[in-house]
Amino acid sequence: MTQTEHAALASDAIEELRARIGGPVFTPSDEGYDDARSIWNAMIDKRPAAIARCTGTADIIQALSLARDAGAPLSTRAGGHNIGGTALCDDGIVVDLSHLKGIHVDLPNETVRVQPGVLLGDIDRETQAFGRIVPSGFVSQTGLSGLTLGGGFGWLTRKWGLTSDHLISADVVTVDGDLVRASENENADLFWGLRGGGGNFGIVASYEYQMRKHGPTVMAGLVAYPMDRANDVISFYREFSEAASDDLTCVLLLRVAPAAPFLPADIHGKPVALIIVCHAGPLDEAEKAVRPLKEFGSPVADTIEPKPFAVHQAALDATQPPGRYYYWKSDYMSAVTEAAQETILERTAKFPSPESALIVFQLGGAAARIDDGISAAAHRDAAYVLNIASSCIDADKIDACKTWARHTWSAMRPHSTGGAYVNFLTEDEGDDRTMEAYGKEKYDRLAAIKTKYDPANFFRVNRNIAPA
Ligand SMILES: Cc1cc2nc3c(=O)[nH]c(=O)nc-3n(C[C@H](O)[C@H](O)[C@H](O)COP(=O)(O)OP(=O)(O)OC[C@H]3O[C@@H](n4cnc5c(N)ncnc54)[C@H](O)[C@@H]3O)c2cc1C
Repeated sequence: MTQTEHAALASDAIEELRARIGGPVFTPSDEGYDDARSIWNAMIDKRPAAIARCTGTADIIQALSLARDAGAPLSTRAGGHNIGGTALCDDGIVVDLSHLKGIHVDLPNETVRVQPGVLLGDIDRETQAFGRIVPSGFVSQTGLSGLTLGGGFGWLTRKWGLTSDHLISADVVTVDGDLVRASENENADLFWGLRGGGGNFGIVASYEYQMRKHGPTVMAGLVAYPMDRANDVISFYREFSEAASDDLTCVLLLRVAPAAPFLPADIHGKPVALIIVCHAGPLDEAEKAVRPLKEFGSPVADTIEPKPFAVHQAALDATQPPGRYYYWKSDYMSAVTEAAQETILERTAKFPSPESALIVFQLGGAAARIDDGISAAAHRDAAYVLNIASSCIDADKIDACKTWARHTWSAMRPHSTGGAYVNFLTEDEGDDRTMEAYGKEKYDRLAAIKTKYDPANFFRVNRNIAPA
């Protein structure tokens, strides 16, 4: 079928779509279309035939059924943060969940039910009001929906496990337009696959999570050093993070210093090495735990102090704002070895843009001790995840960013476990990388679940699991 035939097919169906759903529908001729097709990564410039902004589960069922019956491509948009732009499709129908932001805390049961348009900061705000949390990611603007479906790790993973480990149930609209519940007791195979297997099996209309008692005050912040101290900073990071308790999570960030108020003006625009930490335990223990970091040298900035967890969770937001051109390469690592350190130093001497960064997020802890077989989420044994996060404000720098990220990734490959995080994969990474995200055994099990729930591969705008 040609592109024109697709578009014509969709335009026939569009009036029907408008009649069937409660929310607005944006087509190329509608005001608001360009806003509706904008997502976090400005690299993504897809032109859907229609964007169906859902107001509830009924709209999801209607939009999905119409796309299926019309033979149109379909994509699912929640937070719109996927680096590869899988939230959007060309010529088809986007099921836009971004305005579904309901959150209901059930304190007596220590659970929270969440609609799929919720961002991490949204759920933090609701749960932290009661001193509770669902462990999620490192950046508060990220979509909780896609993050959960890919596994999900962040500041509290070492203490309690992955975000998907906290999923109790999910209500899913299947390819037939039925609403089914997935949990340990209902459709357990689907529940296993959803926790890591992404949007391959249906559209999740709501999530139910277990909450944890947490904060709201934690010891958190960063120390910053000029890049000429990076060798010492990385050596310290290796030892400090390896010795950390499950309460403590350490992130290494190398980039050009932004004009942030907590950094002295004379360092703005110069490369810096940062260690960012969050201690999720009692403040007296936290103070002892972070003391070696605070005393290790003479940083140009030290912001580690007691603060609301939600404030810390938003601290990295400004480093990854929506609307820039982003290109990432990533891998899991079992250690930041001395050899890896040398490569990191070489590659961070050649940043392609002031916005690009090399980030090492610490994992392990509780997540590594949870049985790997409970869900599709893989690589629990990885101690770190490396994100070579290139980005730029002007489109003409993106080729240089891509080249830097690819070369850096190749140079770091000998220091990686060979495993990939499914939620960090970019558009141009192929099926071999999807396999690396799961490993053959989990991939085969996912393929069997896919065959049962979506044999014709209708849900294919994603990190696709092919039906067996
Ligand atoms: C700035 C930034 C920081 C990040 N930090 C972290 C981090 O700390 N930890 C981490 O684990 N990840 C992190 N990520 C990666 C993040 O997990 C993914 O980008 C994830 O896709 C975001 O979810 P979303 O809802 O915004 O996805 P979207 O882009 O909206 O959707 C991506 C895909 O997810 C699937 N999907 C989403 N919602 C549904 C649904 N309701 N039903 C069915 N399928 C669905 C679909 O296949 C869709 O194509 C980060 C990303 C960014 C951009």
